[in-house]
Amino acid sequence: MAYRDINKKRAYYRAWSLNHRELLKTYRDKWRITHEKEIKAYGVKRNKRLKHDCLMAYGGAFCVCCGEKNEMFLTLDHKNNDGAAHRRQIAKLAGYAFYSYLRVQKFPQTLGLQVCCYNCNCGKNANGGLCPHKGDWA
Ligand SMILES: [Zn+2]
Ligand SMILES: [Zn+2]
Repeated sequence: MAYRDINKKRAYYRAWSLNHRELLKTYRDKWRITHEKEIKAYGVKRNKRLKHDCLMAYGGAFCVCCGEKNEMFLTLDHKNNDGAAHRRQIAKLAGYAFYSYLRVQKFPQTLGLQVCCYNCNCGKNANGGLCPHKGDWA
């Protein structure tokens, strides 16, 4: 039967879904299982986009040291090597949690962040703050 009154229809649906919680949950679980690939792909795409937005907000999608352009290799680097201290400050956020934190904060420019590849980032940390590309490594 068709409801003329949209509010009545809504109330009916609400009551129905309260009485069929388990059934609805089963539907959702089923959907999640049959759409696992799409859900995962969507997550990957969303994360890529999030990371890209962060890279662009902090100077562009390339390593400031060696010019690496593959975003898979890129990360955000703390110019003043105070990454650990800063991360402690913002509750040990890492990876995508850190990226979404930045987006929520509208990409603050006061954090001293720059784009670096993992190589230069690690090299810099291992070499006391200066990437081995820049010398001081024999
Ligand atoms: Zn690099
Ligand atoms: Zn480098």
